[in-house]
Amino acid sequence: MDNWPRWWEGQSFATTQNVAWTAPFNLAQLPVELWEIVIDAVASDPHLNRSLRDCSLVCRSWVTRCRYHLCRRVVLASSDSLTFFAQFIKSSPDFPGRVEQIRVDGSFDNPTSWISHFPVSLPRMPNLNCVVFTSIDLTEQNVHFWRFLTLLPCRTLKIQGVLYSQHPQISRLVSAIQPRTFTLGGAEPVGHASHPPQHHARTCGKRFQDLHTIAVGFKDWEKSVAFMQGWIYFGPLLRSIQILVGKDVHQWLPPFQGETISVATFTSGLWPIITRIFQPPCRLDEALSVSVRTTFAAFILRRSEPRSDRSPPIAKRLEQDLCVEFNKFSLHSHVVPVIAILSVCTFDSVTLKLSPIDWRKLDKEIWKLIDVQLSGAHFPVLNLVMIENANAVSGQLLDDGEPPLSDTDTRCSKDIFSEAFPECVAKGILRSACSEWAHCRDHAVPPYPSIY
Ligand SMILES: [Zn+2]
Repeated sequence: MDNWPRWWEGQSFATTQNVAWTAPFNLAQLPVELWEIVIDAVASDPHLNRSLRDCSLVCRSWVTRCRYHLCRRVVLASSDSLTFFAQFIKSSPDFPGRVEQIRVDGSFDNPTSWISHFPVSLPRMPNLNCVVFTSIDLTEQNVHFWRFLTLLPCRTLKIQGVLYSQHPQISRLVSAIQPRTFTLGGAEPVGHASHPPQHHARTCGKRFQDLHTIAVGFKDWEKSVAFMQGWIYFGPLLRSIQILVGKDVHQWLPPFQGETISVATFTSGLWPIITRIFQPPCRLDEALSVSVRTTFAAFILRRSEPRSDRSPPIAKRLEQDLCVEFNKFSLHSHVVPVIAILSVCTFDSVTLKLSPIDWRKLDKEIWKLIDVQLSGAHFPVLNLVMIENANAVSGQLLDDGEPPLSDTDTRCSKDIFSEAFPECVAKGILRSACSEWAHCRDHAVPPYPSIY
């Protein structure tokens, strides 16, 4: 007999095996109700629940309880697994309510025509909260695919490694599922992915009613630009957009080995699109955060209530802030042009975030160019330039092992920064907290705090 649930995550192709195990102790000593409590405990432990499938092989009386837990997270990777799972889930009125996540994986089985109709093969699953599509080719799906997906509304939609030829193929996925969180990793354009030009003007629609958070990741610049040029994901509740370029969305911090970026792609490709995403004409009175993390720096554009240490807001205008997080690979030839392009967003404040190590390693030319830019006509309403220690916690040093900003210079960090940003000092907009930086001899009260 085959007790192996073929749909279970990571085991979509489980082969038939006999239940021929001999217990090393007398199982019959305990009533099945007690064993079910044990199985429930195994299922609730994230370190043990991968053993559930083995438990289902122990004896017939354990099968039902094990499957009750196993159908929480489902992988459909073939026509057979879909058929098998559909039969199983309909076998008990309890099972549809157990399913929380369905992953549709198109990387194993050809043909993949079953993907187009899988939602109509399944009963309604009231607690489904996540749908994941892995390695599916959207160019192969027939028109029913998107229509049938409206049967699977849920809070989270994840797409990993999909092929697409037109941007609406992806946006229709989102509007069919109507998720609160949408994650996309590694979308691959087939041929020349295109979109009607009028999509740019439709950024303020209400097509994505519940969409709150978007996270997208691309391994290279060309693919990110191809995707972002068709960007139409706006909605009345959208508050957070996270974009990773140069690395996979699931590998947040891989080692950087240097990269070649074409100037055209770099300056005119992505960054004007980011400004459009951050400032759609209809949404300037809504809080929003757009974070773009690249291998050479992170840029976080934020629109929010003014901070408490700022001057009172005019009427209810939200404040716009730009935070640039540097790393040891930050080059002025990359960072400075990006800041120039982003300046059309009329920021009220700019935060430069870096570690003392970065400060010592980076070419001083970068601060000179940024100083000129931030104090010039590009930033007419800018009234605050903050320099923050990336290693500090809540404005204080993490510990006193922090290196100084300079090998030879133990002056107050304020003096060192003032020297590097003379134009911003002249405008009276530069600010830093010397409690965040080690080795200040001038303001050594109180002593460097310890954090336990
Ligand atoms: Zn100081």
